[in-house]
Amino acid sequence: KSRRRWGRVVGVLREFEQGCATSIGRLRQVVDAMAVEMHAGLASDGGSKLKMLLTFVDTLPNGSEKGTFYGLDLGGTNFRVLRVQLGGSRSSILGCQVETQPIPQHLLTGSNEELFDFIATRLKIFIEKEGNEDVLPLGRTRELGFTFSFPIRQISVSSGVLIKWTKGFSIEGTVGGDVTQFLEEAMARVGLDMKVSALVNDTVGTLALSHYHDEDTIAAVIIGTGTNACYVERTDAIIKCQGLLTNSGGMVVNIEWGNFWSSHLPRTPYDVALDDESPNRNDQGFEKMISGMYLGEIVRLVLCRMAQESDIFGDAPAPSLAAPFSLRTPMVAAMHEDDSPDLREVGRILEEALQIPVAPLKTRRLVVRVCDVVSRRAARLAAAGIVGILKKVGRDGSGGFAGGRSKGKPRRTVVAIEGGLYAGYAMFREYLDEAVGEILGEDVAQSVVFRISEDGSGVGAALLAASRSPEN
Ligand code: ADP
Repeated sequence: KSRRRWGRVVGVLREFEQGCATSIGRLRQVVDAMAVEMHAGLASDGGSKLKMLLTFVDTLPNGSEKGTFYGLDLGGTNFRVLRVQLGGSRSSILGCQVETQPIPQHLLTGSNEELFDFIATRLKIFIEKEGNEDVLPLGRTRELGFTFSFPIRQISVSSGVLIKWTKGFSIEGTVGGDVTQFLEEAMARVGLDMKVSALVNDTVGTLALSHYHDEDTIAAVIIGTGTNACYVERTDAIIKCQGLLTNSGGMVVNIEWGNFWSSHLPRTPYDVALDDESPNRNDQGFEKMISGMYLGEIVRLVLCRMAQESDIFGDAPAPSLAAPFSLRTPMVAAMHEDDSPDLREVGRILEEALQIPVAPLKTRRLVVRVCDVVSRRAARLAAAGIVGILKKVGRDGSGGFAGGRSKGKPRRTVVAIEGGLYAGYAMFREYLDEAVGEILGEDVAQSVVFRISEDGSGVGAALLAASRSPEN
């Protein structure tokens, strides 16, 4: 009897594996779909699930910036204020002071004034600590780059209107309003002489920092709690904004790729279940297959199914296994990367997080397989998304586009990647690299460099403020 039950569990695994299959053919279809959707999103507003938001950032920091600038980073669980001193030659960040603190929970659902007064006050305290350090000539207005990682419809580089709150924020009176104006009014209320000279999304901040260090950077990708990407597009390809003129001929576009969808994505019943139980149904489909917020939950749903089909996790149902989001993605990573012969870490996590009593080695191996399938699919889809961007800008080696090749050799292309999932999960990075190699071929893949960046989006915003400053 028990043998037949094990057979059922193996059946669940096989079926799940097949549902998650990301053959090279399928990945190529995802690449094409991404490039096509990007094009559609640039053709007209609402032309695609991809918003393709204009950022009005037309030039990126290049290392020549000088002076002292400030950054502010709001968008996740933490809030950061920071100051950078720039020396004026490439990659010379002379100093960088950062203060990180959690956002008080009550502010997430409080009033608009409360939130922005909190931010302005923290900033003021940060600056008062400078004391007599003389970081700026007396009477000069300080310049600030503001990383605000929520979808905004940008009016200029330094102002934009909030489209919607995400990530647990829900504050009345902000949606539809100009975020920069809210912050500047709050700064005035607390008596702070400071000007917002760049308002950017976290992907754009990451792109700016990477470009400061390496001018071949053309795109930035975030793979953390959520996922998103931005890249540099030619203005003449931004059809929905006719007559857009910039000095560089280019502009950074925030793809908002978490909402990407294509019938070629390998969707399983577990993905459908996850979507059904989520507060944002039918939204952020790509993100729900890739990002840290969801991978643990997909694994949990598969294990739940296995527990229904058998007694491999014990006779009595494990209470935590049934609780949504009880298995977090860092635990999936830890189980996946457990290299002890008896999979001790897997056993520990099953016990502690899911309250599954000591599971035999065979069962632990099975759990590792599930983690592998979920993470591998995520990494390979993220890889396909990245190659989709490269294809859109003619850097995928397929030729025929300006800038694609010179003298038959593919041009060096740098993509900045940031986020806890990518930075903290080596197997994820390996799968992503491997898939990029498979899709592009090793020759072209060698010209694509991933530049890992940590907590760089706030610094990037300060660098953007610097590059736009009349002082530079
Ligand atoms: P955020 O995206 O919230 O701004 P991060 O970029 O630091 O912040 O990403 C944090 C997310 O990354 C966590 O929610 C978690 O899902 C994931 N994560 C963090 N560390 C790891 C790890 N070691 N392995 C896998 N995922 C991780």
